[in-house]
Amino acid sequence: MAAKVTDFTQLRKRLKAARVKGAPSHALGQARLMMDAWIDAAESHGMPVSEALRRIRDGAAARQIAEEVAHTQLSSNSGIAANAACRAGCAFCCILKGEDGGTIGADEARRLHKALLPLIGQPDGRQWHENACPALDPETRMCRAYDARPMICRSYMSVDVAACERIAEGQPADGAGVLGAQMIHLALLALSRAAMAGIAMVPTYSMAKLAQMAVDGASLDEALTMARHGPRGLVDELARQAEAMKRVP
Ligand code: SF4
Ligand code: SF4
Repeated sequence: MAAKVTDFTQLRKRLKAARVKGAPSHALGQARLMMDAWIDAAESHGMPVSEALRRIRDGAAARQIAEEVAHTQLSSNSGIAANAACRAGCAFCCILKGEDGGTIGADEARRLHKALLPLIGQPDGRQWHENACPALDPETRMCRAYDARPMICRSYMSVDVAACERIAEGQPADGAGVLGAQMIHLALLALSRAAMAGIAMVPTYSMAKLAQMAVDGASLDEALTMARHGPRGLVDELARQAEAMKRVP
């Protein structure tokens, strides 16, 4: 049985020893450095190690770090962010592909469920398009969970609306992609999982299923159970995103 982590030195050792397969080495290297810095900041701010462990286990640390990376990438106004065609009410990217619709961590799942609770019974995105995210307002096509939207939503951008429409229809098109922040987010979740091995599982969830369950009235526990990925969910998503990153303009 793995030794319990009772101080930050043990936590750092676990992070150092954590091995992750499937993440591009540059993203994993950045993720490792950023998680190390997050642990340093947690300790220097007096956070109990039990709370740091909780935030790593439920993906809150990964989300916080990745959101800062996304903010920096958007502020730099270079790459896809510099030429993005994205605007409010443009929502082809909210037509979710496949059953999964995006990989999210436990912290993201809880936040999304909480944001969608007040919308139970209201018309949702599926009235606009059968595969649209339920968080979408079918009239305005605005996200009704904007502050709680997961990293995948914060990262997806495009320089060409027509490309997004084609992708939503299942056709390949160039011009849309995700910021590198999402790859770092996934690498952080995988690193968190490896660092927590033997102590706790770091789960991931299907965003589409979680959102559907929430607006259909499922409790948080029910939604988390139904939307939870198997162990390969995160590994497979890492591989998909690594492939998608190659197409980012
Ligand atoms: S990613 Fe595409 S569909 Fe989504 S807001 Fe940007 S241009 Fe519109
Ligand atoms: S959570 Fe919001 S931004 Fe993300 S897919 Fe759903 S409606 Fe779109």
